[in-house]
Amino acid sequence: MKLCVTGGAGYIGSVVIERLLEKGHDITVVDDLITGHRDAVPESCRFVEGDIRDESVLKKAFESPMDAVLHFAAKSIVSESVSNPLDYFDNNIGGAVSLLKAMRDRDVKKIIFSSSAAVYGNPQRLPIEESDPCNPENPYGRTKRMIEVILECSRIAWQLGFVSLRYFNAAGSTEQFGEDHRPETHLLPIVLDVALGRTEELTIFGDDYDTPDGTCIRDYIHVIDLAEAHVLALEACNDGFSGVLNLGSDKPHSVLEVVQAVERVTGKKVNYRIGPRRRGDPPALLASSKQAEKVLGWRKRHSKLDDIIRSAHAWRLKHPSGYSR
Ligand code: NAD
Ligand code: UDP
Repeated sequence: MKLCVTGGAGYIGSVVIERLLEKGHDITVVDDLITGHRDAVPESCRFVEGDIRDESVLKKAFESPMDAVLHFAAKSIVSESVSNPLDYFDNNIGGAVSLLKAMRDRDVKKIIFSSSAAVYGNPQRLPIEESDPCNPENPYGRTKRMIEVILECSRIAWQLGFVSLRYFNAAGSTEQFGEDHRPETHLLPIVLDVALGRTEELTIFGDDYDTPDGTCIRDYIHVIDLAEAHVLALEACNDGFSGVLNLGSDKPHSVLEVVQAVERVTGKKVNYRIGPRRRGDPPALLASSKQAEKVLGWRKRHSKLDDIIRSAHAWRLKHPSGYSR
């Protein structure tokens, strides 16, 4: 298929593209490189540099007819969204609306969207199912939920086919592509940097939660398993499926468990201190991915915590300063 991938120079987009190329798809990447890296886009992709809110950028991206879009482009730092919500509504919702208009005007009627567990807010029960209430607690999560509403309205109005994939905590790397956010806010790359002696210590955001060891619980899913789900979601969308699907490993891990697993995998000590809670952190998030397994036939093959850590560790050793600047 001819695919337009927004945000393809970012962490998850680059890994999904690697898999889509293996499947023989023809890919145009649109990215303004605000958090992405030119080096994370394979040579064989057509690259359009620019902001998806800019009509002329989308005109270039859609120069030749597209069969479908994968939409990763977004700002995604929760704390930043709390202090600067307008930027998040502008970039994420403005970007999605501009992209959808371009698609509607060119009769492109399939989209796979990167949603997030943040749409659920602080869940009332675990594991979380897609039909559970969505009460996002921060502007970032609200943008994701609003875009899902816009997708559903577009389905009704102009028969858009969409699959909104609610990722839990994406982690891990392939040999070639990995996580290089600046600043890095995600737990695993930070813990690895401490183990590798590149950062002095980890601050654990609170150990007084109502969880077995007092630290927050999350569901870490290998980015390779996420990539496979995108390939399957594209096929499901082609076959007429539209809807939202959780993507998680369905395995709970506390922050302290991640620290211990990194020590086990790397053989290095991780220094940490306990700091205050981070605003807006739900105590525990855990997916039920049964629906994705049923609808897509998705199987998680890489998402054991130690396997995730091993892959991320290998990538960080191979790319000590991430992608070239
Ligand atoms: P990332 O920051 O690495 O990638 C996002 C990419 O989008 C970057 O390359 C950035 O330059 C680009 N971009 C942002 N705004 C743009 C715009 N207006 N026009 C063009 N390009 C733009 O993020 P990621 O971790 O790869 O996440 C990808 C998607 O998945 C995001 O939508 C994010 O919200 C979602 N998500 C990520 C996680 C996670 O654990 N990383 C979890 C849930 C959801
Ligand atoms: N976390 C932490 N210290 C850090 C970064 C993260 O204790 O330096 C915790 C955070 O409070 C959360 C978990 O690790 O409970 C995962 O955080 P991350 O930012 O990776 O993902 P989130 O779940 O917020 O999307």
